[in-house]
Amino acid sequence: MDLWIKRDDLTGFAFGGNKGRKLEFILADALAHGADTVVSCGATQSNFIRQLGAAASVAGIECHAVLMDEPYEPGLRATVVGGLNTDGEHGNLLLDRLLGVRVSIVPNGPWETLFAETNLLADRLEADGRRVVRVPIGGSSPLGALAFVDAASELARERFDVVIVATSSGSTHAGLHVGFSGTGARVIGISCDPEPEVAEEVGCLARAAASELGIEPPNEEPDVRFDFVGPAYGVPSEEGQRALVRLARSEGIFLDPVYTAKAFAGLLALAERGGIAGRVLFWHTGGLPALFGYLPAIYHGTTS
Ligand SMILES: *Cc1c(COP(=O)(O)O)cnc(C)c1O
Repeated sequence: MDLWIKRDDLTGFAFGGNKGRKLEFILADALAHGADTVVSCGATQSNFIRQLGAAASVAGIECHAVLMDEPYEPGLRATVVGGLNTDGEHGNLLLDRLLGVRVSIVPNGPWETLFAETNLLADRLEADGRRVVRVPIGGSSPLGALAFVDAASELARERFDVVIVATSSGSTHAGLHVGFSGTGARVIGISCDPEPEVAEEVGCLARAAASELGIEPPNEEPDVRFDFVGPAYGVPSEEGQRALVRLARSEGIFLDPVYTAKAFAGLLALAERGGIAGRVLFWHTGGLPALFGYLPAIYHGTTS
């Protein structure tokens, strides 16, 4: 396997990561609609809220975010709270505060409850006379996907057999699915979220992005793998932690525990099983501040 890495962890803006590309489109659209406020939601270690908060602040508008610790399964909650650095505010949440994001933290519950809370907050802000744009979780609107159709074109002169990317809210994978279509590269999304709807979301967003561009969507359905999620969304997996340590020590490149460590573990496992070969591109989506949102203990067992 000839391994390449697309360093979107180094996109630069507010600690980098994949969300900066989406925000170039999403924030421009919000400003074009006269927004003075953006409202969104996510987990307490959301990379999207960190970059949205920075983009909103730079643009001179307010960012409100409803955040929750995940996951909400009672047994796993103990696991994640044992791993999350909740004693004070760390990682992305610390950066949200520095950026002036108006954060409300809600108790754990299903994602639907989080979305409902977020809509209520947006309603209240509108009732106060603010011009609100509601931004979907992870920036996964068709515009977010378009940013990654565009990103794929940066590699138009390269040829890859396989592209591997972490997927969750879906627009990164969706955009790459459209952008690499017809180049001979097979895009595989490693889901970091166990919910099967992830695959449908990626498909919907890919069709929406293609339709915005006035092109036919790819014939193949997006390839989403669920075998590397680990215990739950936001709960580090053992194989992910091993992949994180291995890449750090062999290349000096860090992965994050929520997304890219799981995706890279998927890449290594697929390569071992002979499921992928040739020129393989790992799309590094960033997320590095979350490294500091977890307690050192979660890295134990992989650190010797
Ligand atoms: C949000 C995020 C992803 C997943 O991207 P989606 O477009 O939400 O599927 C992957 N990696 C990192 C580091 C992220 O922050």
